Amino acid sequence: MITGPLYPLLPVFLQNAACSFYGLTLRRLRFSKQFQQKLVQLKLSEWYSKDQIDEYQSEQLIMLIRHAFEHVPYYRTTMKQLGLTPSDVQSKEDLPKLPLLTKDIIRARFREFIADNATEKHLVHGHTSGTTGTSLQYYLGRNQVPFQWAVWWRHRARFGIHPDMLHANFTGKPVVPPATRRPPYWRWNLPLNQALIPMQQIQPEKISDLVKFLGDHPFAYFSGYPSIIDSLSSQALDQGLTLKHRPSCVFTGAENTLDKQRRNIFEFTGAVLSDQYGFSEGCGNASRCEHGVYHEDFEFGILECVEQEIIDDGHTRGKIICTGFASPEFPFIRYDVGDNAVWDLDTHVCECGRQSAKIIRIEGRSDEYVLTPEGRKIMRFDYLFKDTHDIRECQIVQKQPGEITIKIVRRDGYLSSTENILRSGVAQWISPKLKVNFDYVSEIERTGAGKMKAVISFLT
Ligand SMILES: [Zn+2]
Repeated sequence: MITGPLYPLLPVFLQNAACSFYGLTLRRLRFSKQFQQKLVQLKLSEWYSKDQIDEYQSEQLIMLIRHAFEHVPYYRTTMKQLGLTPSDVQSKEDLPKLPLLTKDIIRARFREFIADNATEKHLVHGHTSGTTGTSLQYYLGRNQVPFQWAVWWRHRARFGIHPDMLHANFTGKPVVPPATRRPPYWRWNLPLNQALIPMQQIQPEKISDLVKFLGDHPFAYFSGYPSIIDSLSSQALDQGLTLKHRPSCVFTGAENTLDKQRRNIFEFTGAVLSDQYGFSEGCGNASRCEHGVYHEDFEFGILECVEQEIIDDGHTRGKIICTGFASPEFPFIRYDVGDNAVWDLDTHVCECGRQSAKIIRIEGRSDEYVLTPEGRKIMRFDYLFKDTHDIRECQIVQKQPGEITIKIVRRDGYLSSTENILRSGVAQWISPKLKVNFDYVSEIERTGAGKMKAVISFLT
């Protein structure tokens, strides 16, 4: 990591050098020859017909299952116990014959997931964020990293963005010492062509310097957590600041982008907003097209929709279950990543022309919904805040059944009548029986990885 105990003591130019040195390591890891080759292939295969996609996925799946049976002890044992042989799984329609894979199973039988023909020196160690006990340790195979980055850069290429373009990355890492009182409130990572803007520096008295910096450089795009980019955008709008040079795109990631955040970011940057859905275990991905639809990155893995439920708009909600093709050294087959999504299972082709599976929205993790007294699970609350302009940030917390607390960071001029608007919104749209409490805070706490959660439930 770049931000060790000595880092804050270094002069700015050495902090820039440390960021760039770290960037050089990342560039070597991400943008290898394999990455370039993969990206070329992916830009062709994204236009496959439905039949070609099915054929591709079946071929990959047959190879993966045969390999898992022959070389990965967990899958061999499990399939034998179920009386299955590799020939029983010929296409994704056969996947339900295999059991779901949970994080608990991987924790308990970790060594059994490493393929017996894998060379351990080629394995990249990975772990999910989370507190001790909820974090998951795993390995990524040697082709996984370039494959994953090629999938991500294919997404960006849809918007005319390429790896050599200058950009600003909004990060949770404290690359500028938090006590800094004078600009620069940013650092440079030159090998990755990026300026790093840490979330800790986005404070009212620093916004005008940050906006000037961003406007003085020809940044092609911004990337980072939507909550951080929104925080800068909404404070800049409050202060009447505008960008001299605007980026053409903003790529958000790691958190769901809320409608309110989307509006603020668009108003401030005027840029196209896009994102893709991925996760650190790296066994599945979906990327938005130019028309805002997430398409399964079918070359990288299969995303199944299980526990299907038809919802009000005719779309299908379900859990995301992933089978990854990129990492046979430590395969994830039918892995329950813990997220939910809404699919468009209708067979019509997306306006963009891509024929891969369509996901309308990602609904987040199972511990990110509120349970109503009627037993409904509610994951999104954006529309409650549609007409409230005096809230900077908010978070819904449920600690006990039958009630929620709305944590609010107020803007100047916050009106107490906003409570009534929110209460009646909850009664109308969510549940008339749900009790609503308010808690006014100076900031919404981030997770260890710097993410802001829109909803936290302590009931699960
Ligand atoms: Zn599309």
